[in-house]
Amino acid sequence: MKKITTLFIFFACSGQVFAKGGITIEMQKPQTAQEQQTASIIKASEINQTFTKLSSQYFPFNRRLRVQYGSSEGPYYDPENHSIHIPYSFYLESHDYFSKHGYEEKYGKSAEDGATDALLHTLLHEAGHAYIEDQRIPVLGKEEDAVDNFATIILLNYIENGDDVAISAADMFAFESQSEERPNYYEMGDYADEHSFDLQRYFSTLCLVYGSNPKKYQYLLDEVEDHYLGDRKDFCVSNFEIINENWHQYLSVKK
Ligand SMILES: [Zn+2]
Repeated sequence: MKKITTLFIFFACSGQVFAKGGITIEMQKPQTAQEQQTASIIKASEINQTFTKLSSQYFPFNRRLRVQYGSSEGPYYDPENHSIHIPYSFYLESHDYFSKHGYEEKYGKSAEDGATDALLHTLLHEAGHAYIEDQRIPVLGKEEDAVDNFATIILLNYIENGDDVAISAADMFAFESQSEERPNYYEMGDYADEHSFDLQRYFSTLCLVYGSNPKKYQYLLDEVEDHYLGDRKDFCVSNFEIINENWHQYLSVKK
């Protein structure tokens, strides 16, 4: 199993960065001091180099993909322009969640690292949409679930400590589902939405992490009620095998 441990040098000129592997990264001019700080953290984290290298090795695009930070809406993938849009506020909101929930005190991971993990998972999720479009991959169910799986499979296979990154991303879904802004009931629009509920996305991600290494993660699903836990664990092991193998049919590296 290959792991990415080294990152390559990146060239930046006037806020625009051209990367290898069919991806262009653009950082829009930050509008506030907070956004400026966010842009600096994103650059310093080298997340874009990691993302670009993953793409060139495992999911290369035929058509150049543009990733734009600093958009007013998102994160989302725009199939018309084959571009991913990520507002700076997305990172700031994630950082707030990790900070508010005492992530560092509980798990020894800083809010900054948690937010960077969630950002990498999100970049991969949006890249999954882009890859499906670019490679004309058939979608036979909820595309949102398929690309959540794509993000987690890439992390688990090809990122050092990617299991840890996936768990942070899952926790972010749990934080979002507990947000005070959410009403304590769902509306019809939520049921009609293309995304699964945040808590479903949380368990789906943990399910893949567990299934990839049941011994290491024997306690990961312990929130599930006892009478149901054994079945879920069995399901997660076979689910990981199927999803991992099936996504690899479309990656440039076969299992
Ligand atoms: Zn999506």
